[in-house]
Amino acid sequence: MQYTLSGLLILLFCQLSLAQQPVYQQVYDAYNDYREESIQTRRFKHSDIEPILLKLDEEKGFEVNKLGESIEGRAIYDVTFGSGKTQVLLWSQMHGDESTATMAGLDLFNFFMADDAFNELRNTILNNITVHFIPMLNPDGAEVFERRNALGVDMNRDALRLQSPESRILKNIRDSLQADFGFNLHDQSVYYTTGIKPEAATISFLPPAYNYAKDINPVRERAMQVIVELNEALQHYIKGHVGRYNDDFEPRAFGDNIQKWGTSTILIESGGFPDDPEKQRIRKLNFMILVKALHSIATKNYKNYNREDYWNIPENERYLYDLLVRNVKKEINGKLYTVDVGINHYEAEYNEHSRYFKVGSIRELGDMSTYYGYDMFDARGMTAVPGKVYEEIQPDLHAVQKLDAMELISQGYTTVRVKDMEGQEDIRRHLVLDVVSEDASPTYTLEIGSRPNFILEEAGTPKYAVVNGFLREL
Ligand SMILES: [Zn+2]
Repeated sequence: MQYTLSGLLILLFCQLSLAQQPVYQQVYDAYNDYREESIQTRRFKHSDIEPILLKLDEEKGFEVNKLGESIEGRAIYDVTFGSGKTQVLLWSQMHGDESTATMAGLDLFNFFMADDAFNELRNTILNNITVHFIPMLNPDGAEVFERRNALGVDMNRDALRLQSPESRILKNIRDSLQADFGFNLHDQSVYYTTGIKPEAATISFLPPAYNYAKDINPVRERAMQVIVELNEALQHYIKGHVGRYNDDFEPRAFGDNIQKWGTSTILIESGGFPDDPEKQRIRKLNFMILVKALHSIATKNYKNYNREDYWNIPENERYLYDLLVRNVKKEINGKLYTVDVGINHYEAEYNEHSRYFKVGSIRELGDMSTYYGYDMFDARGMTAVPGKVYEEIQPDLHAVQKLDAMELISQGYTTVRVKDMEGQEDIRRHLVLDVVSEDASPTYTLEIGSRPNFILEEAGTPKYAVVNGFLREL
């Protein structure tokens, strides 16, 4: 093979810049090699991941043990790898609708299965720590995409009473391992912000308190140091989007008790990020910080970080809405008043909780000048006119799909009455117009709890519309 001099220089430069890039950034860049492609969205079930876990058991270096069963009889597994002295226990999806870290866990298993340029990193981790990962601790909740388990309790308030078998499973493994580190992996509201700011709290951390005084002993201090290191890494990717969770002591919670029982415990909460409704970008960030955390613990690198820096991470606040329309004129009895309108969407589920379409709702009205939205619009000079219901009843959503939505909206219509919508949710997901049943006769006023369907007029001319909580330019 022949190289030109400039080619050699470029090659050398690339090698140098690669060497200078921190290893966690290299892992992040190589993420697609490890991503578990069979899981693409947040709403998956035990039956989707169980075959993946059982197959892992056949892999060299992996052991998958059934720890027990949920109330409804679903197996809960511990995925173990590594042979080091330090015991690290991770558990995800204690709340059934908080699945981001379960996805990241599957990616993490693929990473540790691989044999490639990261072998040195892997071996450092595997030789120094033993990892136990319980993906989906609450499979019954995941089945219906709900926070609570089949008993209807929040497992995170069951650490002392231990009524749920899933809670006992977690307590037993913690005790039997006397784990040195614990990772309590959750999802938080997508409306949390990092302080009174527009930035969503994409990842928030907490080293839970182990008493009401919120004392810091060496166990809790180690957790704080790991968090400081992870925050530093995350700032490289999501600057300003990392928060810290309120550290009030909750005597019934698992994180607080596991810290108290002597395991350095780190809570990781996955929140929201713009244009990431299925949290796939956040999943990738989770994967990266889990690799980084394991490496930090294996090398004790966290000891180089100062726990005091933890307090520089902004505390979680809740200052976000899906859509915030500012300075809109609302009419009552012929008079105009200026209000801001905060709108959120909720997920209307179908297909056995595995899919959803979005339904908008007005959540706040008034002076919202300290609030923000994933989407924000200043309607200064515009008046909100209630959306009209289209006179011609449509037989089904196929027919609605064929209507010229933007033309109808510019005529003031936001909503269409439909005879039969059953089983057509996949169409409804993508409709621009809002739909109601044929016998409904809704009126859309700007008030809390109302469906956000209104036209924004300037001097009598429609300029924008909000339909089902989505802003449309006319
Ligand atoms: Zn949770």
